[in-house]
Amino acid sequence: MAEPAGASRDRIDEVVVTPVAFADPPLLNAAGVHQPYALRSIVQVRTVSGLTGLGETYGDAAHLGLLRRAAPALRGLDLFDTNGMAVRLAAELRGAEAPDAHGLTGASSPSKSLARVVSPFEVAMLDLAGQRTDRPVHALLGGRVRDAIPFAAYLFYKWDRHPGGGPDGWGAALDPDGIVAQARAMVDRYGFRSLKLKGGVFEPDAEIAAVRALRAALPELPVRLDPNAAWTLATSHRVARELAGDLQYLEDPTPGRYGMAAVAARAPMPLATNMCVVAFDHLPEAVRLGSAQVILADHHYWGGLRASIRLAAMCDVFGIGLSMHSNSHLGISLAAMVHLAAAAPALSYPCDTHAPWAVDDVVANPLPIVDGSVAVPDAPGLGVTLDEAALARLHRQYLDCGITRRDDAGYLRTVQPEFRKRVAAW
Ligand SMILES: [Mg+2]
Repeated sequence: MAEPAGASRDRIDEVVVTPVAFADPPLLNAAGVHQPYALRSIVQVRTVSGLTGLGETYGDAAHLGLLRRAAPALRGLDLFDTNGMAVRLAAELRGAEAPDAHGLTGASSPSKSLARVVSPFEVAMLDLAGQRTDRPVHALLGGRVRDAIPFAAYLFYKWDRHPGGGPDGWGAALDPDGIVAQARAMVDRYGFRSLKLKGGVFEPDAEIAAVRALRAALPELPVRLDPNAAWTLATSHRVARELAGDLQYLEDPTPGRYGMAAVAARAPMPLATNMCVVAFDHLPEAVRLGSAQVILADHHYWGGLRASIRLAAMCDVFGIGLSMHSNSHLGISLAAMVHLAAAAPALSYPCDTHAPWAVDDVVANPLPIVDGSVAVPDAPGLGVTLDEAALARLHRQYLDCGITRRDDAGYLRTVQPEFRKRVAAW
């Protein structure tokens, strides 16, 4: 087949993968506590003509190894050929898998590992395609259906500082008063209009009290609670009953699609998940059982932005609500999340983001959260620009900090040696 005229300048010439570390507060969860630095990998895909597309993904060593193994396979590929990219990466990785270092998305598998590797390269190629065609990424996903993306204030139980470190400015939040103070600070600073509390940290009754305190203090703001499957079936039934009328949705109270379905059958509110439905082959069983009424999309592990649009369409078909999951991230990921949310008609809830917890960034122009929302950018591509000096600084920080994988449990054990990750523990 003849090569299209002018296509040679659209060839991918170079792919650079750079691990970075950025300061992260001591946020508590059912798996432990966030380490002093969160890791990400920054992907730069360059074309012969000198354009650079950006992607961002997890930075743990095993995933980084797969990214670096995959990167050379993109050389010579047309920047628009995202399907060709996925085929090449599948061939290059040949069934390799990396463990899910975040521990929240179930067992690892080769197909899930491939989806996680494809994602940042797809985002970078869509950034390139947008720059090349003078269109924002959301236009390449079918066009925007909303002008601003609402996000929820992501509340965490936390210490006021890392052991041996200085205060991070947010203060401690270890009881209902602390959580309410954190919510007020988040709302004052960013204008959030909904709240999400990361649970699974304290006894369920303490977290019920925190939700009730939030409802009393900020009654106009809907609240969600996510204990990351820390509860038994009996506890999940009880908490769901006691928080009737107080929760917009209850996220992953208990492990597994069968467990979630049992809770959902009696819960007065919808159940959401980013744990029991995290890949396309989980959907048939989850739909049949009724495991979740809301699925949290996340382009980082669903295989990219277009795969996430397909997920949104499937949720729509089966009457399942759609929200968006977040891990600690920087501004490239936030931009990608915003373009995805802009182009997903079925998105039915404000999205999650860790953005307020990150004080550093690798982009020069991070998208701001104003009145609880991010305005959808119309600049070409993702609409964010890499800050080369910041990238170098955060890469140096990665090399110096000595952290190569996320280990919330191991880090908490340095303070509480008896700690074990909580799965159906209460
Ligand atoms: Mg969750």
